[in-house]
Amino acid sequence: MTDKIASLPPVSLMMRECGLEPKKQFGQNFLFDLNLTGRIARSVPDIEKIPVVEVGPGPAGLTRAILLAGAKQVIAIEKDKTTEPILSQVIDASDGRLRVIFDDALRVDFSALGVAEYAICANLPYNVGTELLIGWLHKIASGEKIKSMTLMFQREVALRITSRPGDEHYGRLAVLTSLIADSKIIIDVPNTAFVPRPKVQSAVVQIIPNMEKIAALHDLGKIEQLTAKLFGQRRKMIRAIMPNVNWEKYGLTGTERAEKIAPETFALMAHDLL
Ligand code: SAM
Repeated sequence: MTDKIASLPPVSLMMRECGLEPKKQFGQNFLFDLNLTGRIARSVPDIEKIPVVEVGPGPAGLTRAILLAGAKQVIAIEKDKTTEPILSQVIDASDGRLRVIFDDALRVDFSALGVAEYAICANLPYNVGTELLIGWLHKIASGEKIKSMTLMFQREVALRITSRPGDEHYGRLAVLTSLIADSKIIIDVPNTAFVPRPKVQSAVVQIIPNMEKIAALHDLGKIEQLTAKLFGQRRKMIRAIMPNVNWEKYGLTGTERAEKIAPETFALMAHDLL
C-alpha cells in the first residue's frame, strides 16, 4: 500500500521540477530528512488506526512519512496553493488515503472535517503555531475528539508549552496545556534539518489530551483571561495586580508572582474570581 509513496522522487527534486521555492510569508521551512520525518510520523499514537490531520503539508515531506508509517486516512490543510502540483502527485500515489484542503487552517472548522476522532501531526508554520494550538485546546475542552497532537515548534515555544511552575518559560501556554493534556518534548530538532535553515532550534512536542483533566475543567476561556492578566505583569506580586482577593483560600499569600502558581490553582481562581 505504501510502495507508490516510497517510489516518488525525492521532495527536493519534486520542488525543483515544479519550480517551488520556500516562501517566508507562509513560514515555510521544509524537512527533507527521511529519518527525521519518519521518526515524527512513527511517534503519532495509533497512526494506523485513526485519521491524521496535518496542517501545512507544503511539498509533502512529512505527509509522505505519515502515509509510509501506515496512516489509513490523512487530511492535510495547506494555505499555499502553489504546492498543488506536488501535492496532487502525492494524492495520486496515496491510493485514496490523502485528501488536501487548500485553505487557512485558522479558518477551517475542524469539527466539519468528517472524522469523529483524529490525531494532529504537523511541522507548524512558526507564525501561527501558538494560535492554532490554543484553538485546538479550546476544541478539546469543548469535547472535540483530538486523540493526540504531535507538533513541531520553535524550541522556545516547545519549552513554553511543556514547562512547569517556577521554570523560566512557564506561562499561559503551559497552564492551558497542562489543564487539558499531558505534554512532553519528544524530539529535539537542529536548525540544520530545515530548508531554508531558520535561526533558531526546534522541537517536536507530543500533547495527549487527558480525560480526567478535561472532566475537571470548568471554563478554559476564564482561565485564559486570568493567565493573561497575571502573566501580563509577571514581575509584579499577584496582590498588586488583583487586590481584594482572599489568597489564603488558594494556599497563597498574595506576594507570589504568576510564575509560581500551579495550573490547578489558576483553574480554581478563574472559577471563583471571573
Ligand atoms: N510539512 C512541511 C514540511 O515539514 O516540510 C512544511 C512545513 S512549513 C514549516 C509550514 C507549512 O504550513 C507551509 O507549507 C505553509 O505554506 C503552510 N501554512 C502556513 N500558514 C498556514 C495556514 N494558516 N494554514 C495552513 N497552512 C499554512
